[in-house]
Amino acid sequence: MTIAYFKSRCLVCWKGFEVPLLPDSSYGDNLYYDKIAKTFSYFSWFDNKEIENCLTDFLSKNPKLQFSNDDTKGNTARQIVGLMANGDKECVLGYNRCPRCGLKFNSVSATRTEIKEIETLNFTNFLNLDNNARQQYLLDRTKNGL
Ligand SMILES: [Zn+2]
Repeated sequence: MTIAYFKSRCLVCWKGFEVPLLPDSSYGDNLYYDKIAKTFSYFSWFDNKEIENCLTDFLSKNPKLQFSNDDTKGNTARQIVGLMANGDKECVLGYNRCPRCGLKFNSVSATRTEIKEIETLNFTNFLNLDNNARQQYLLDRTKNGL
């Protein structure tokens, strides 16, 4: 899949970099940022039924997270998808993170830099676990909050 990137600059350390933005029509899609690799990935609920089922199962057994997901209109679920993915992924929820100092901020210029290929979020490590191990993994990763 290809996506448009836009010019951005950190408000603190002034590093210039570029960030992808999804088109307005991309309902149900999300972008993820890998904090170690400093790369972006793309996720669509429509292509990931197994992940969605596993998440629904997990939330139904964890009322606290289910409430927080309802309160945040699905952001909790999006954050948990990041935990399921390979790598150290966080969902891009209206802000971007500076690749140099790690600051989060939400201003992106309207200047398009280029259209690039973006990789899809990959779940091979998580999907290799059996169902009990998946639920336990999510329990461990969420017990101190998201
Ligand atoms: Zn910075």
